[in-house]
Amino acid sequence: MMDWASLKKSKKLLLGTTNRKKLIELNAHLQPRGFQLLTLADVPKAIDVEETGSTFIENARLKAVAQSIEHRLWTIGEDSGLCVPALGGAPGIFSARYSVDDGASAGLTERSQIDQRNNDKILRELATVPDEKRQGYYISAIVLCDPDGNVALEVQGECWGRILRERRGSEGFGYDPLFEVLEYHRTFAELGLNVKRAISHRSRALREFLRQLDSRLVD
Ligand code: IMP
Repeated sequence: MMDWASLKKSKKLLLGTTNRKKLIELNAHLQPRGFQLLTLADVPKAIDVEETGSTFIENARLKAVAQSIEHRLWTIGEDSGLCVPALGGAPGIFSARYSVDDGASAGLTERSQIDQRNNDKILRELATVPDEKRQGYYISAIVLCDPDGNVALEVQGECWGRILRERRGSEGFGYDPLFEVLEYHRTFAELGLNVKRAISHRSRALREFLRQLDSRLVD
């Protein structure tokens, strides 16, 4: 039996990520709902979880299960990425390390530098792909575990767009400068946090997450 009462009482959640941009996006939804978010920077010894799953949900689950057991807290694991049908779904679950395999990002630890290399690679891979075949979608999978590592909730959200031929804008992270949102004809890097909060894959997943959580937390 899941001890939902303990979450309702503490309203404390650990986010199993070190990505500050993700944290800000998730916080935009969770903080107004009264949840206190801890990050891996707030816990004594954060563990590094290997993403060995073959889907976003599997990887989010791996992160949530391992961190919750280690820290004995209700924990959210989030895994996300960009899928481009013209590239057979790549970079997909390998989005964060897309350019590592070809050596371009080997040894780099600065997230923004790796993002740069990843964007360079996707531009190269799509160089000969015509505009009408440059659709892509972001996916965000979110898994909640109780402090014993039991999976309590699993949700997924997606957001469709188009991969541009050059970067536009300076906000967001990852592939945002190349990802043109269909509804706005502008990139997430141009549109910024407010629009991401309204329509991003992460926001969509999180809204469904909160909807399901609400139904578990009612008396
Ligand atoms: P993760 O930290 O293993 O989930 O990897 C996520 C990777 O997917 C990031 O490093 C980005 O490359 C990409 N990604 C996920 N969400 C976004 C987003 O909202 N904007 C841009 N890139 C994203």
